[in-house]
This record gives sequence, structure tokens and C-alpha cells, in this order.
Amino acid sequence: MKISKVIEGKPSRDVVTISPDASVRELISLLAEHNIGAVVVSTDGRSVDGIVSERDVVRRLHADEGVLGTEIRAIMTSDVQTVSPADDLDTTRRLMTERRFRHVPVVGDGVLLGIVSIGDVVKAHIDQVEFERDQLDSYVHQT
Ligand code: AMP
Repeated sequence: MKISKVIEGKPSRDVVTISPDASVRELISLLAEHNIGAVVVSTDGRSVDGIVSERDVVRRLHADEGVLGTEIRAIMTSDVQTVSPADDLDTTRRLMTERRFRHVPVVGDGVLLGIVSIGDVVKAHIDQVEFERDQLDSYVHQT
């Protein structure tokens, strides 16, 4: 299965982004408002300048309780791993498992098109396995 199919199947295809100048306080509001675990950092909503997840906030909070006023650029990950719509689900799942992150932005022609979470990847994998099982089942039971 291609990543394009995974993002097409999501209830909302909007990607939540935040400016690198925004504060951690604003990030926390976005995470809560959209019920998500990570936000793409972007100056224009199209390019990927970084990614910031709830894990970055918790780690910082542990070291510095005054983190709420800090700018996102200070806590984000700049070296972002992305996938393209043509990439394969299995390759993406392997990337997320090996690198231990739960979010990957989808970029095509340099433009942010979507984001997949480990939850989206697991759901797509289960759908695929169930589809193949049903196909096999009807093949075995056909008269
Ligand atoms: P997550 O598991 O997605 O909450 O993120 C765990 C850590 O990996 C955090 O420090 C994130 O900033 C970072 N991270 C998340 N997604 C990516 C990604 N696609 N590329 C690089 N780093 C990431």
C-alpha cells in the first residue's frame, strides 16, 4: 500500500503547523485543541522546517519548568525524516520503528501534503491484512 492511500483515508487531511517563533504555550494549546501528539514546524504552511512533539515538551519540562515561554525553534527537531506519497507503507513502518518516532510528514515536490502517525500506519496495516484474509477466505470457500 502507498502512503498516498493512507493519507487519503484519514478523516481530516489538514496538517496542523506552527511557526518556529511561536511559544511552547501555543504548541500545548494546539496539541490539546486538535487532540494530536506532534505538529510540523513551518514558516509558510508548505515547507517543513522542523517537527515538535509532546515528547519534546515533556523532556524540556523535566530540565526547565519555565519552558512555556520558550520559542518552538529551541525545542524542535530540525533534521526531519519525511516520506513521499509514492513511498510504501512497510518502508515507512520500518523507518518509524527503527528511528523510534511516531510521526512522519508526507512531502511531495517540496510541499507538505500530510502527516502519518504510527496509529495511522498500524490501522492501514490491519486493514490490509484483513482484506487479504477475506480474499483468501472467499477463494478457499468458493464453490
Ligand atoms: P514522537 O515519537 O513522534 O512523539 O517524537 C519523538 C522524538 O522524535 C521527538 O524529539 C520529535 O521531535 C522527533 N521526531 C518526531 N517525528 C520525527 C520525524 N519525522 N523526523 C525526525 N524526528 C522526529
